[in-house]
Amino acid sequence: MEDCIFCKIIIGDIPSNRVHEDEDVVAFLELHPSAPGHVMVIHRRHGKTVLDYSEKELGKIMTGVQKVAEKVEKGLKCNSITIGINHNERRGVPHLHIHLVPRWEGDRGGIIQTVVNNPPQDSPEVIAEKIRKAT
Ligand SMILES: [Zn+2]
Repeated sequence: MEDCIFCKIIIGDIPSNRVHEDEDVVAFLELHPSAPGHVMVIHRRHGKTVLDYSEKELGKIMTGVQKVAEKVEKGLKCNSITIGINHNERRGVPHLHIHLVPRWEGDRGGIIQTVVNNPPQDSPEVIAEKIRKAT
């Protein structure tokens, strides 16, 4: 996609610190990292959300995440990694990307459930039924 920063990174028009790439995915250091070694994994084909990719492509993305996670663990000796996707996030780059944020004891970060604080008003049964009924 012409105006996409990540597509420009893929073709090399914008420089990046790549840490992994293959024929399907590219992984590079986040420009505004939350932690040392904060990496983004993207598919080479532009898509905005997980719904824009085939099962095979999503599998390639997750295989890339797996390879990068192993490298980050070994290279940076972190305690764990928080892995997250902002599906259809309007404030970020509109090219699906998976964040890998290395974690260390005492890094003052929370678990992924602390990203949002919006307690549900409906019962779990009502919410689950809405999701099951969606087509
Ligand atoms: Zn793109």
